[in-house]
Amino acid sequence: MPELPEVETIVRGLEHRVVGDTIESVWIGSRKQPLKSSPAAIVKALEGTRIQRVHRAGKHIVFELESFAPPPKGKRSKKPDNKPAQWVVHLGMTGRMVVSNPSAEVAKHTHLIATLASGRDLRFVDPRMFGKLSVHSTAFDPGGVEPLEVSEKRFVALFRGRKTPIKSALLNQKLVRGVGNIYADESLFRAGIRPRRRAAAITRRELAKLHRSVREVLREAIALGGSSVSDYVDADGEEGFFQLEHRVYGREGEPCRVCGSAIRRVVLAGRSSHYCPKCQK
Ligand SMILES: [Zn+2]
Repeated sequence: MPELPEVETIVRGLEHRVVGDTIESVWIGSRKQPLKSSPAAIVKALEGTRIQRVHRAGKHIVFELESFAPPPKGKRSKKPDNKPAQWVVHLGMTGRMVVSNPSAEVAKHTHLIATLASGRDLRFVDPRMFGKLSVHSTAFDPGGVEPLEVSEKRFVALFRGRKTPIKSALLNQKLVRGVGNIYADESLFRAGIRPRRRAAAITRRELAKLHRSVREVLREAIALGGSSVSDYVDADGEEGFFQLEHRVYGREGEPCRVCGSAIRRVVLAGRSSHYCPKCQK
């Protein structure tokens, strides 16, 4: 499942390939599950628009579209009509955005094809259909703070008075966008905090450390992905996502890379959490 660093990597890959291009036409498949806006609304928002920018909001890919008003009678100029339009894609578990040659075979489970003026296709493929496609006329806000941009002060304040375990709070998308299970475990390890501790009981100093470690872990993962961008947006294959060398995640019973103690696993709200009993307090 793509997490924030993978989505960031995909966004960077798309940025190089599709910004400035115009969507000429849109084909939408018959499956309704991935569509969070009506097919008519998607077609209306996408067709004839120029992709101004691609950016990430949490784990969502946001295409900023510049639409054009139909030219008034007797005039030739096509001016942007300044209607904000955003196309938002969430990859879910198995979704992919693929930039391909129109002659490339359409993969099974392709739900949308945007034909670009440059002569390429932008395709959304998703076998399991947990992905989501939607269009918005006002700025899309997935909620929560952006972990790579949030200030230490604001980050620390998020956890004040929260009785839930720190791990659950980190995974709460209403608080922090886009930090998934793997990166939450890895960040807590680096900050020396056990996943089950109550968020409210963690000291300011520890939270400041957690703020740094979350960003460090995400940045390292993004840096790792930089070289493999093409695997996500160009290839039609099923490449797996890159991974940081995990220090705790998925390493139950294996020795801690710092102190040698056996890594432990606990289940929190139905999800596995991994930690070192010695390095994390
Ligand atoms: Zn350790």
